[in-house]
Amino acid sequence: MTKCPKCGKDVAEPDKSFVNKVFSVEAYTCKECETSFKVTG
Ligand SMILES: [Zn+2]
Repeated sequence: MTKCPKCGKDVAEPDKSFVNKVFSVEAYTCKECETSFKVTG
């Protein structure tokens, strides 16, 4: 789970996630404001 960078709402599940060679990427879409953003970790 992460927070939307725009409205600060918790976003529970990523739309999709994949693992790069060096880090993982999770693509989220906020249901509140429909902002799409990626989180790398
Ligand atoms: Zn949002």
